[in-house]
Amino acid sequence: MMTNNRRFVLKRRPHGTPVEDDFALVSVPVPEPPSGGFIVRNHFASLDPAQRGWMDEAPSYMPPIPLGDPVRATTVGQVYRSANPDFQPGDWVVGLNALEDYSVVAVGGFTRKVDVSGVPSPSYFLSAMGAVGLTAYFALLEVGRPKEGETVLVSGAAGAVGSVVGQIARLKGCRTIGIAGGAQKCRRLIEDYGYDVAIDYRGKSVSELSAAIAQAAPKGVDLIFENVGGVVLDAGLMNLALHARIILCGLISEYNSETHVGARNLWQVIVKRATIHGFLILDYAARFSEGATEIAKWIGAGQLRVDEHIENGLENAYTAFMKLFTGGNQGKLILRIA
Ligand code: NAP
Repeated sequence: MMTNNRRFVLKRRPHGTPVEDDFALVSVPVPEPPSGGFIVRNHFASLDPAQRGWMDEAPSYMPPIPLGDPVRATTVGQVYRSANPDFQPGDWVVGLNALEDYSVVAVGGFTRKVDVSGVPSPSYFLSAMGAVGLTAYFALLEVGRPKEGETVLVSGAAGAVGSVVGQIARLKGCRTIGIAGGAQKCRRLIEDYGYDVAIDYRGKSVSELSAAIAQAAPKGVDLIFENVGGVVLDAGLMNLALHARIILCGLISEYNSETHVGARNLWQVIVKRATIHGFLILDYAARFSEGATEIAKWIGAGQLRVDEHIENGLENAYTAFMKLFTGGNQGKLILRIA
């Protein structure tokens, strides 16, 4: 019996917020492994805000997803058929593949073997031990360099990256202020992720949000870990301490916007002689195992809580993906494929 490969393809480029009709689920035969490569059976795929950017034509750090191709995604799965002696059927691998049942990995492709025996689930290689945890780790510690006693402000604080950032900052002796949407997520900031203060951004203007941050950090914020942008970043900029550092990790509030508003309070960077640093996790690829080892130690010691939000089925990829933009995810958003 021929096995089918279902693929969640990009049919046309979204204008603003993606609609279901921008995508299609198609079925094709499973390909044969290319010479020196292999086929991976995807078990879990990472659903990331970055995928929204790859759907556009705009210049980025990766080429746009070609129309008709499956949506690019980091996946974890098992080698299915192989023409490479280093990758045997059954081996667990993680790499940049796509939202599809089976992916072709060409020789030299960016896919590596992983040892799933020591982790609660192979999906951890998409969450705490994957780009999300590593982003929190390297952006905060290598770029932000938080010092004990400093005040760290995190936006998107209950999300996959933000929840790990808050916990690591706390482990480093910082005072942490988290911004998230809604009372339930704000409760989780305190109870689950150990934030000192939680601020709900929903329904607040820049000046109202700025006042809430000022109340939580009367001496100003030493480090901003920005995941959101827009109103949230504008309010943070009004509360910088002298020589504050701002890590620009993401601007999710703008990803579906066709008219980018930009940061309107940048003048505060001059007033406070602050530094803004753009961060991209790909720059740290050579150090992934170092970061993952440190993260694993914190998890093992019960010092780092990891939450995964697993949705099921390629046929639900669109609905699942959109949760990132409505705040519907509670933890790292992952699609179970197999
Ligand atoms: P996530 O935080 O788990 O999920 C996205 C969250 O963003 C949602 O749950 C929602 O939380 C919030 N959000 C969505 N639209 C918003 C809006 N208009 N205003 C305010 N908040 C909004 O996702 P993630 O994977 O951890 O990514 C977080 C950020 O990190 C993204 O900006 C992403 O692009 C960035 N990132 C960057 C890198 C890098 O290398 N630079 C790597 C990974 C991720 P609420 O319910 O709180 O609104």
